Amino acid sequence: MAYPVVAIVGRPNVGKSTLFNKIVGEKVAIVENTPGVTRDRLYRETSWNGRTFALVDTGGIERKADDPIFKYMRTQTELAVEMADVIVFMTDVTAGVTADDREVSKMMQKSGKPVIPVVNKVDGVGTLPAEFYEFYELGFDNDLIALSSVHGSGTGDLLDKIVELLPDAGENEEQDDFIKVAVIGKPNAGKSSIINRILGENRLIVSDVAGTTRDAVDTRKENEYGKYIFIDTAGIRRQSRIEDRIEKYSVLRAKMAVERAQVCLIMIDAAEGVTEQDEKIAGLAHEAGKASVIVVNKWDAVEKNNGSVKKFTEEVYRHLAYMSYAPVIFVSAKTGLRVEKLYELINRVDMQHAMRVTTGMLNDLLSDAVARVQPPSDKGRYLKLYYMVQTSTRPPEFVVFCNNSELFHFSYQRYIENRLRETFGFEGTPIRLIIRQKGDNAQNV
Ligand code: GDP
Ligand code: GDP
Repeated sequence: MAYPVVAIVGRPNVGKSTLFNKIVGEKVAIVENTPGVTRDRLYRETSWNGRTFALVDTGGIERKADDPIFKYMRTQTELAVEMADVIVFMTDVTAGVTADDREVSKMMQKSGKPVIPVVNKVDGVGTLPAEFYEFYELGFDNDLIALSSVHGSGTGDLLDKIVELLPDAGENEEQDDFIKVAVIGKPNAGKSSIINRILGENRLIVSDVAGTTRDAVDTRKENEYGKYIFIDTAGIRRQSRIEDRIEKYSVLRAKMAVERAQVCLIMIDAAEGVTEQDEKIAGLAHEAGKASVIVVNKWDAVEKNNGSVKKFTEEVYRHLAYMSYAPVIFVSAKTGLRVEKLYELINRVDMQHAMRVTTGMLNDLLSDAVARVQPPSDKGRYLKLYYMVQTSTRPPEFVVFCNNSELFHFSYQRYIENRLRETFGFEGTPIRLIIRQKGDNAQNV
């Protein structure tokens, strides 16, 4: 399931992260204990009135000390305009309307994206302060919402408005037979080149930020393999080369693309090997529960012998140990080597991502697994596994009921996961196991 993206934009210190925390609160999605993957606070899935969306705090983009505020805000705004379905533009009633607020408001309005202007730090109860009304000069279509991020007042109105402006679920459905593919990777890995190769030369070139639309970034492709929408995270980089070098910025952009996708192509530059930034970016796809293919690009540019593929594959899995489920393919965007093969892989992992296994088969697997390797015990207490069901797909999620979740150690969970993979495949997709102790609430692991 791909969720719409809602981005919060605004000057430093207006209260963006306070609002973000207020809204996502404890409703944090499943957090996995993935070594090497850190979850920062920029981005969370959240639900309101039955609609789920991904909330992004663009304030998480690092601001270099010597960067003027306007430049920083322009970066946030470009990103939001490019990737978000709804923008929440936050101002601060105690600071009044600033010149920067006016400038970025214009950018947002030109983009045509729905914007909800919010005035934060309206802490008092009762009538609104006169200063609040000054913000109407920014001229947005939607009414101003008065907010106190600290107290939480106004957040209900804001969430109602967000949900009202989200794209219709029905609109997305019409594209449901398209597989959405995010092409992610560090700058220069070859994302644009591979998309150009896939689409031929006649793709849309994005001209300027104000005119950037979702369609210009997403490109459709229909062929004998299927129907695809490629989400290009290189997008507007041509116009904002410098900003894109800020790592947080490219990571945040990758996050938004991943959220909207079913399948991620994780591009790695063969000439450079697997780097820390690759680990981080691959971690986003894993954490978001998406299907993945690891695409080692520029294979034309490295010196090879018979063992090169094997050696590089080992290097990939050494660095991306949590992603041993993802297939690796060696391509060249430049020469076209194996680029056609990508479609088959995308189709394969997409199917595995959506696969559902019957409870009967799962319980056969469970009793077989328990018979082969005895479950852990501690001081005379034995772990008993009662039964297992698959509770969702994309990614496949399983709930295992047991007598004592403390005894269900990570290593035994890993064993069960491995049995699932050996038996059913699940190639290219993460698997989530939820341990539930009889008579207990669910515990995510
Ligand atoms: P960000 O830089 O936009 O993410 O801003 P923060 O969320 O870090 O908030 C900046 C400062 O404003 C912090 O000291 C917050 O406690 C304060 N703040 C945030 N929201 C409110 C609010 O609604 N009322 C008041 N009085 N202070 C707030
Ligand atoms: P992006 O930043 O990930 O979009 O990367 P680009 O597609 O802009 O490519 C970065 C650089 O790598 C460009 O100079 C490309 O010509 C080069 N490049 C991309 N793919 C290949 C490839 O398969 N082989 C070689 N030798 N160079 C490539």
